[in-house]
Parts: sequence; structure tokens; C-alpha cells
Amino acid sequence: IKKYNSTFFQFMNRRASANCRYQPTCYEHAANCYTHAFLIAPAFVGMALLHRLSDNRWETITAWVYGIGLCALFLVSTVFHIITWKKSHMRAVEHCFHMCDRVVIYFFIAASYTPWLNLRELGPLAAHMRWFVWLMAAAGTIYVFNYHEKYKLVELAFYLTMGFFPASVVTSMSNTEGLHELACGGLIYCLGVVFFKSDGIIPFAHAIWHVFVALAAAVHYYAIWKYLYRNPTRDF
Ligand SMILES: [Zn+2]
Repeated sequence: IKKYNSTFFQFMNRRASANCRYQPTCYEHAANCYTHAFLIAPAFVGMALLHRLSDNRWETITAWVYGIGLCALFLVSTVFHIITWKKSHMRAVEHCFHMCDRVVIYFFIAASYTPWLNLRELGPLAAHMRWFVWLMAAAGTIYVFNYHEKYKLVELAFYLTMGFFPASVVTSMSNTEGLHELACGGLIYCLGVVFFKSDGIIPFAHAIWHVFVALAAAVHYYAIWKYLYRNPTRDF
């Protein structure tokens, strides 16, 4: 067992102390980069497809907003992980991209809700969520710029609030098609958070978190494509 442990754990460093950052091994750095780098191109293709399927201005604008959110997430994450791996001596640059990596998550959550908020009929109160999600993303951004890496659990609580609170609008939706997929994607994100918090406990924990993000984003994309954009009376 001891031999097994030593080969297994060469892929992982020791857990960081409270409010310090975990230092990944080079294997983990590589996995962190590749797991999101491979999704940049599919994100652009996905954006183009929704754009092509748009039948009116509102759908086109929504395809842009959601598509940009999707591409930005994988792009910024990949650049951040490349810099952390190869350019960690450039502390200011690395710090800046770490903040960008955190900020882009807030905007990605807002962008992921946008198709449902813009293209589904909502009740008069729930309709305010269309702008409120962006207000929450802005608040998250301000938080990152002021308290970056200071209170990690507060940050996680912010992400979870932003991730679940907008879902309350479903209570006012008359058309509830696709909400199972929406919930399924949300569940995958939540399972992923377990790995997000497991650096130094499970080897490649952060890369596994990336895979969960990719899977959840794919499930959400599928639901948006199928229920909000695809026109069943046409070929697509
Ligand atoms: Zn990451």
C-alpha cells in the first residue's frame, strides 16, 4: 500500500494552509490547462450555431450574450492556468488573471441564465431577474476586486447564491420544458464543487472540477439549443 501511495501521490502536492493557495504539480498544471483549452473551439462553434438558429433580434442578442459568456469562461480559464503554470514569476500578471478567472464565473452564471430569462415568458416580478442577474455579477466583480482570496467560504457562498437564486423564476414560467436538464446541469456543478474544494486531498482535483464544469455547461447548452432555439418544424 505504501508503494502504491507514493506513486499515486507524486501527482499531487500537500494541501495548502488556510487562505494560502495550493501549488499544483506540473502534471496537475498541464491537466488544468488542457481540460479547458479543448473546449474553447466547441464553445465558439456552439455560439455560431445558436446565432444561425436565431429567428428574431431578441434571439440573436441572447445568442451573442450566452455565446460570449461560454467562450469567455473557457478562454479566460485556460489563459489563467497557462500563466499560473509558466509565468508564475510575473506575480502582478498572474494575480490579475486569477481575478479575471473568478470574475468570469459570475458573468458566466448570468450568461447561462440569460436564454431562459430572455426567451421564456415570465411573470411580472420574475421578469426583473433579466437585469438582476447582471447586477449580481457586477456585485461579485466588486467583491473580487476588494476581497480576492481573503474569505474563501464567503466567495463560495456568493457563487452558490448566484447559481441558484435566479432559478426561482421557474415558479412563474408557464412553459416548463427543459427545466429537468437545467436542474441536472446545476447538480453537476454542485458535485464539481466537492472537487473544487479538494486540492491536495485528491490528485488532479482542480482538473476534475474543470471536467464537471464542462459537462454541466454542455447539458445546459443542449437544453438551450433544444428547447429555446431549435425549430422542430425545420431540419435543425
Ligand atoms: Zn480552473
